Amino acid sequence: MNKMSLSFLSRPENEVFARNAVAAFALPLNPTLSELSDVKTAVSEAVTNAIVHGYGETEGWIKVDCGIGDGTIHITVSDSGKGIEDLSQALTPFFTTLPQEEHSGMGFTIMQTFMSSFSVRSQKGEGTEVTMSKHFGARADEDAR
Ligand code: ATP
Ligand code: MG
Repeated sequence: MNKMSLSFLSRPENEVFARNAVAAFALPLNPTLSELSDVKTAVSEAVTNAIVHGYGETEGWIKVDCGIGDGTIHITVSDSGKGIEDLSQALTPFFTTLPQEEHSGMGFTIMQTFMSSFSVRSQKGEGTEVTMSKHFGARADEDAR
């Protein structure tokens, strides 16, 4: 499996960097535009969460680890921010702790919907780790038709 790892500060401008870097790394798997767009959206949601919720007014490191192999991309986005107190509540569609900043509470739901697998580990005061993967099969399915 080919691997890469990124580490960057929790500044808003780095969200674009992260999602494009992951997309570029995924290219050898020959994903469709729609598959690539799903991965970019999921990475964007996870990194934005780390910036906005994990670190908030503070600044810290965000790590993105990627692996590709067997037509599948594996992605872990982790922060050492404030962590999540009630994970099942956080995973509920439309639940947000920042309604006043126009967050809709749909980030985790979007990651879950757009990726093949998704899981979160978090410890209050320690940080959060989102692990997800996506199998790029759309093109192969088309060829088989
Ligand atoms: P949206 O993503 O629609 O802008 P949101 O970020 O509030 O809104 P989710 O991405 O689903 O919605 O996250 C739900 C809640 O989980 C957040 O409101 C926040 O309380 C918590 N959360 C998510 N990611 C993190 C993180 N990395 N660190 C700390 N808390 C988090
Ligand atoms: Mg979010």
